[in-house]
Amino acid sequence: MADDAFDVVVLGSGTGGYATALRAAELGKRVALVERDSRLGGTCLLRGCIPSKALLESAAVMDRVNRSEEWGIKATGEPDWPKVLESEQHIVEKKVQGLTGLIKARKIEIVKGTGRLAAGPSVEVDGRTLTSTDVVLATGSYPRLLPGLEVTERIITSDQALVLDRIPRSVAIIGAGAIGLEFATVYRSFGAEVTVLEALPRVAPLEDEDVSREAARAFKKRGIDAFAGVKVTEVKDAGDHVEVTYQASEGGEPKTVSVEICLVAVGRGPVSDGLGYEEAGVELDRGYVKVNGQLQTSAAHVWAVGDVAATPLQLAHSSFLEGIAVAERIASMDVPEIDYAGIPRVTFSQPEISSVGLTEGQAKDRGFDVETKKFQFATLAKANIVGEGGIVKVVAEKGGGRTLGVHMIGPHVTELIAEASLIYNWEAAPSEVAAIIHAHPTLSEAIGEVFLGLAGKPLHTM
Ligand code: NAD
Repeated sequence: MADDAFDVVVLGSGTGGYATALRAAELGKRVALVERDSRLGGTCLLRGCIPSKALLESAAVMDRVNRSEEWGIKATGEPDWPKVLESEQHIVEKKVQGLTGLIKARKIEIVKGTGRLAAGPSVEVDGRTLTSTDVVLATGSYPRLLPGLEVTERIITSDQALVLDRIPRSVAIIGAGAIGLEFATVYRSFGAEVTVLEALPRVAPLEDEDVSREAARAFKKRGIDAFAGVKVTEVKDAGDHVEVTYQASEGGEPKTVSVEICLVAVGRGPVSDGLGYEEAGVELDRGYVKVNGQLQTSAAHVWAVGDVAATPLQLAHSSFLEGIAVAERIASMDVPEIDYAGIPRVTFSQPEISSVGLTEGQAKDRGFDVETKKFQFATLAKANIVGEGGIVKVVAEKGGGRTLGVHMIGPHVTELIAEASLIYNWEAAPSEVAAIIHAHPTLSEAIGEVFLGLAGKPLHTM
């Protein structure tokens, strides 16, 4: 093969791109991975999941110190912000090095520069043309702003928040999705006054209604002012502070909060402009790359994965699944279409939130005759020991049918969701799950208990 002829060229080295490249190389393909950033890893590793979880870990340590007397420990502490950022960046750097080593070990060629899709398919990178049997678009997403807004020193997105040089005294966060809730958690743990403004009628609006209600209650208890069903009408950088004006969606008096920082967390848009996609025959939908169930675009031998693809979820791990599937399809393997409802969703707020499958509302909308069961973490000895409450809610087909959804808010539920994911994806019936005993005393008993209840034989509840 000529130097510039590949089996697979992947545009973008984020989670979707690198998963595709790694799996394709494993399957014996000659792979090039094109990246314009100086480091591999994309949003998740450089500006998303990993640094934000590192910040949240520091925030959780702060919470523990602040609450330490509940466990009989006299401790005081205060954040050393430069050190917090240093530990965040240390983790990022370590993972970038690990990923780069793995890519090299699989003999994937890293091509630095901005790639542009061209006919063939092929990819042009700084005057070099890479021809390829297949091309995978994995150029990711960027944080959206509200119309007419620009990033300033005080009006920021998650990109700037992850490297902000100080802990603000007060913050307004626009959007109560995953990013909004996670940063509200970080800032509150470090003592900031936090106001959250959400357009939809509830915080965590994509979650089951019971979880949203519990989240609103927990946030209030933590001293976070969260307002849902509001319209932000103006965001003004006044030089030394920001004024954010909002009002209830159905009308009412406008209110203004004055804050040091306004974080805009209203979703992420696709990175597809100026990359030759449409010219090469790839159809876009509001900038997202249109794909079929196999993740093929409208151009032959061009595929799309990750945030840039018009699929239902923008999550690092859904892009892992998409990347692996595309690599396998390129290698002529038969791979079933992804059931996006079966992909677990996790928000690392305090309290944590996680879910898999359908909410009660979605299940009813799809015509299922459902029954639900809720379990309070407060019933569990282990939850009392770690000092946290919350709920697990299961949505199941009435009359002993399959589990349709599991929804949790509470301690370590971003880990507990792994079991729920297995239950949902394995289409387990509550009676089957109830037959499996959970170790005592653990937080995982919440799952055991809720299924015991659904199976008609509750242990520690009525
Ligand atoms: P999101 O879509 O999850 O939430 C954005 C929120 O902003 C929505 O609730 C929306 O209703 C609200 N909103 C939109 N316009 C608004 C307005 N004008 N005023 C008030 N509220 C408004 O998006 P995000 O939180 O920015 O996250 C971006 C993407 O990254 C999402 O797909 C998210 O799932 C993903 N992400 C995932 C995690 C995780 O899995 N833990 C963490 C961070 C981000």
